[in-house]
Amino acid sequence: MNYFSLNKQSPNVSFRDAAIQGQAPDKGLYFPGSIPQLEESFIRDLPKLSKEEIGFHVMKPYVGGTIPDDVLFNIVKETTDFPFPLVPVNSGNIYALELFHGPTLAFKDVGARFMSRCLGYFARENSRKVTVLVATSGDTGGAVADGFHNVPGVEVVILYPSGRVSPVQEKQLTTLGDNIRALEVEGNFDDCQRLVKQAFSDETLQQSLFLTSANSINVARWLPQQLYYFYALQQWQDIGQPPVISVPSGNFGNICAGMLAQASGLPVKHFIAACNANDVVPRFLQTGFYKPEHAVATISNAMDVGSPSNFVRVLELFNNNLDELKFSLSGYTVDDNTTRDTICDVYTQFQYLLDPHGAVGYKALELYLEQFPERKGIVLETAHPVKFPDSIEAILGEPVAIPEAVAGIMKKEKHSTVIPPDFEVLKEYLLKQI
Ligand SMILES: *Cc1c(COP(=O)(O)O)cnc(C)c1O
Repeated sequence: MNYFSLNKQSPNVSFRDAAIQGQAPDKGLYFPGSIPQLEESFIRDLPKLSKEEIGFHVMKPYVGGTIPDDVLFNIVKETTDFPFPLVPVNSGNIYALELFHGPTLAFKDVGARFMSRCLGYFARENSRKVTVLVATSGDTGGAVADGFHNVPGVEVVILYPSGRVSPVQEKQLTTLGDNIRALEVEGNFDDCQRLVKQAFSDETLQQSLFLTSANSINVARWLPQQLYYFYALQQWQDIGQPPVISVPSGNFGNICAGMLAQASGLPVKHFIAACNANDVVPRFLQTGFYKPEHAVATISNAMDVGSPSNFVRVLELFNNNLDELKFSLSGYTVDDNTTRDTICDVYTQFQYLLDPHGAVGYKALELYLEQFPERKGIVLETAHPVKFPDSIEAILGEPVAIPEAVAGIMKKEKHSTVIPPDFEVLKEYLLKQI
């Protein structure tokens, strides 16, 4: 399997090179040269297979021989070493696929763990240290910090928007130390993402450091997210009727991975891009005009993205044909007040506690099912509500019980370096510190 750049100005590369480079030299995102087609028997047998068997079978063609089978099997096994339960929420047509049972309590653990292990494997053959540079709107940073902590040959620098991540999120990315460094940027997520992009196109930095990205533009982080959708179908009882899947979306990596899984044969009825006030994609689906905006802050902060990097991959999957895309994808935007009401209503009616991201997805699915009452759906519950205790407490008037894994981290001391959203400052830091 080779990967080509969506900007079409760079040579094709292997999985190994795409994972190490992150982004193509022409600044395009890498995209698989062909989409593997899965056998019907594999889909039928999903309920009988283990998570690692499914994961290995799905990932193997994408890795294309750059990692030996036994190593890849172990990477998949370690990556998916926690439950992904599908649980009923309301009385009949909405289920939640809980993706928050990993070490940092949000869905990004799978991508970050898979990528860190692949890079760790590739780094063994490299004489040069790899520096992973990553911008986070909240959950990526913690997952990347946890996934890469003490991986030999890899240094990690995380940029996060000061004051715009929750206390748990901040502790997760600022307390590990060792090869993990946190830069607290006086700006928003788009500033962080812009600084990272500038670093990748800076010649001096490219010459002095071996830089790569751990955002979902990196294929090693993006592709394993397909597994959630296989695990969802593995547990889906209604064989005759594939589910509608609602994905709380920001940078559009997760939903794009789901649509890729569908393109390789996974039965999914329809996808819903559930967005907060940052609704460039729902507006595009409605009007046909794609107009990136500055991100605005919301209570579902991991989705505060004004210019979603991965949407070009969604378009590629549909050959840039808007009508075909609309047949498979609907977009909804859910504002903060509706998100709060949804958390409250679902908790009161069904005793199920959604986090703000899951609540955006739930509401979008509910609106969709009002139009198609005969269908059934799954919302991806992308984070544990405890990651957003202030919002939840304000909404419900009672505190969220803190799981042990998080209680420990809250007592640790934060270490971050504050920088203005100025590329020269970042550049100087990288040249001096790494
Ligand atoms: C990152 C994140 C999202 C958005 O995922 P994308 O792949 O960026 O669309 C949604 N919910 C949570 C909790 C997240 O951390």
